[in-house]
Amino acid sequence: AAKDEGKNRFMIFENRMHEQLLSRIDQEARLREAVGRGELRLYLQPVAGLPDGRMHGAEALVRWQDPQRGLQQPGSFIPLAEETGMIIEIDRWMLREACRVVRQWQDLNPPTAPAFVSVNLSAAHLELADLTEQVSIALAETGLSPHCLVLELTETVLMRDVAVTSSRLEELRRLGVKIAIDDFGTGYSSLGYLRDIPVDVLKIDRSFITGLVGNGRQQELVSAVVQLGHTLGLRVVAEGVEDGDQLTLLTVMGCKFAQGYFLGRPEPAATLYERLNAQVLTP
Ligand code: C2E
Ligand code: MG
Ligand code: MG
Ligand code: MG
Repeated sequence: AAKDEGKNRFMIFENRMHEQLLSRIDQEARLREAVGRGELRLYLQPVAGLPDGRMHGAEALVRWQDPQRGLQQPGSFIPLAEETGMIIEIDRWMLREACRVVRQWQDLNPPTAPAFVSVNLSAAHLELADLTEQVSIALAETGLSPHCLVLELTETVLMRDVAVTSSRLEELRRLGVKIAIDDFGTGYSSLGYLRDIPVDVLKIDRSFITGLVGNGRQQELVSAVVQLGHTLGLRVVAEGVEDGDQLTLLTVMGCKFAQGYFLGRPEPAATLYERLNAQVLTP
């Protein structure tokens, strides 16, 4: 009987693995159609200027309105998209959509419009020979000024091959586009790459902001990173600001930009637009 039980347990295990595999194959097939079916959504999260806390720019964050499972966060489909190469198509759509929406906003209501939009790119993009051309086409077709576009890449991606990365980024910067290091501090950062890789913006990872209050050592560290960034002529953005005390500390440190739930959650571009423009129209 013990032997049968073991066998049953194995079969249950096997069935579960089988289900997971099927569900993954199914998700992959649906994701493949998502762009063409118009299921991707552009969300925007404000990047605030300090000390006033008003929106200065915005980060574009993708969501997938999956007809079967509802609204999906990037964590549930970006890894699959990266593994399968679908990320290229997704990011291309996001880039174009972000440029289009922000340009339209700047046309309709310049005083409330974001001065820049930040778009995330995955590792695969740096290997594309026509990345600069793609970006330049998106700008030309939407009419967004290159100075209003920031491309975000994580530290780990930037450090893969410093020579290739640097020349690719230089090409992009010659268009007038800015480059940001995303999630700064989480990779195996080395000061060498800050010297060698041409970037404009440094985004301090959320993990350094969580627990900032009451931790003197962490405050010294963040403060030093802010100073270092400014010394190198970079714009420094603190990510993941969730309360007023964190914001106060960052302001005192001289940090000039912040992003986080306390300042505004990611939301559909249309509702953000409506909210900010209603604020302006209501005296
Ligand atoms: P990220 O680029 O570092 O974006 C910031 C993430 O932190 C977003 O998660 C945002 O919703 C979240 N966040 C912002 N403020 C706070 C806060 O105060 N507290 C907490 N706990 N979280 C906060 P999201 O939208 O789930 O995106 C996760 C990651 O997925 C992004 O991290 C980015 O790496 C990737 N991603 C998102 N959209 C795209 C895209 O269009 N293309 C690519 N390649 N990657 C994307
Ligand atoms: Mg999220
Ligand atoms: Mg980002
Ligand atoms: Mg980040």
